[in-house]
Amino acid sequence: MFSPPLHRQRHQFVVDFVNKNKPQKGHFLSLQVADLGCSECTLLMKLKFHRDIELLVGVDIDGAKLKKKWQGLGPLSTDYLQPSYYQLRIELYQGSVTQKDARLRGFDLVTSVELIEHLTLADLGQFSDVVFGYMIPAVAIISTPNAEFNTLLPGLTGFRHHDHKFEWTRAEFQSWALGVALQYGYEVEFTGVGPAPLGQQDAVGFCTQIGVFRRLRQRPSCRAVFGVDVEELFSYELLYSITYPSLRDNNTLRKFLVAEVLCFAEELKQRWMEERMAASDGSLLQTEGGAEAHQAASGQRVEARENPTACGPEDENLMGQRGLGLFMTQEEANQGAQEESPSVHRFVAVPLASLWTSPKVSALSGSLRNLRHFLMEEPTVRLSQDGSAVMLKEEDLDEGSFHAEDGDYGEANQCSQPPEQGEEWEASV
Ligand code: SAM
Repeated sequence: MFSPPLHRQRHQFVVDFVNKNKPQKGHFLSLQVADLGCSECTLLMKLKFHRDIELLVGVDIDGAKLKKKWQGLGPLSTDYLQPSYYQLRIELYQGSVTQKDARLRGFDLVTSVELIEHLTLADLGQFSDVVFGYMIPAVAIISTPNAEFNTLLPGLTGFRHHDHKFEWTRAEFQSWALGVALQYGYEVEFTGVGPAPLGQQDAVGFCTQIGVFRRLRQRPSCRAVFGVDVEELFSYELLYSITYPSLRDNNTLRKFLVAEVLCFAEELKQRWMEERMAASDGSLLQTEGGAEAHQAASGQRVEARENPTACGPEDENLMGQRGLGLFMTQEEANQGAQEESPSVHRFVAVPLASLWTSPKVSALSGSLRNLRHFLMEEPTVRLSQDGSAVMLKEEDLDEGSFHAEDGDYGEANQCSQPPEQGEEWEASV
């Protein structure tokens, strides 16, 4: 009878409500939303894409229903590959809405879509007390069938579902809702989805009737709501919880930033190598713009030619060092292994100031100082002694191209040519 189907219209009503009432731009306010009687989590799956929701909770008495499709609530692979600044946590609880649970208190929005008609009238009294007297959400959206519409539903005798304990007329629903609103300090507005055929709307109303309850008083302070003497109740069982990757989480931010840095550093290294190969003088140390660099890793600074985004003296210091350079170092390939001669590695130094030119790297780190701190904490990244450059191992460079007098990178000067790369089998050929 309805297009889109009625259940989708009910869910869309909630999504539209959240869209219309989302926190104002510029404020770091996020919503906490709980769906009571969430069944197979269909509404939650729609709401999980809403950027303004930071906590999404589903409650149902039937654990099997919750489990049926909950894998659809998890993050997508793109959420890990391109984490956003938004935060989202989803929790699913098995429990009855007639019982209190402290984890459900103080939400911005509580929805109960086609649930109350499954409760006995005694349980409905408990439900009102739990939702409006204990959870005290800022807004509650409650939907239930409108019995007056039933005459228009073809072939229907009795209730719409065998488990329904009642189906109310508009007057019955409104009388209950207004009583609850008065008792617990809310105002309520009536609407619905699934309109009646032309000319019959006034006579029968919507197929699904909806009450939108808004709390009249300001939300009590956390202390008043969650006062120390309030008994902590945990009657629901947590069946599922997932926290989405977010750049506001330092660990996720660092991992993502490091991946970006290494990728960009590798790109710069390749570019630099190609330029260097092509250059006739084979000079190892060049700034990006072609000016000569004297030192990067061991202390002396390259003259700062531009300093567009840096802030603070430390940033200025780092900003000055922009030239990529090659240096060599001696180190044990396998620590503890009985090796005759230590292996020699060659590194390309990619200054943080060059990495900072990537809009993504600069946006993620915020300042050169932060960038350095993030990288210092990351064991997979090697920094130069003074922390001004990322050191990338250079595997592909041909040996003849390195001359000690070209490189002046501290450690580099102490090193000799790399050992012959010949393998044992060559000797016996
Ligand atoms: N809200 C769902 C939606 O819009 O897709 C469908 C609701 S379904 C018609 C009613 C749900 O309420 C069922 O999943 C049922 O298990 C749940 N339910 C019934 N009594 C409950 C109770 N006392 N506490 C929590 N959930 C209950």
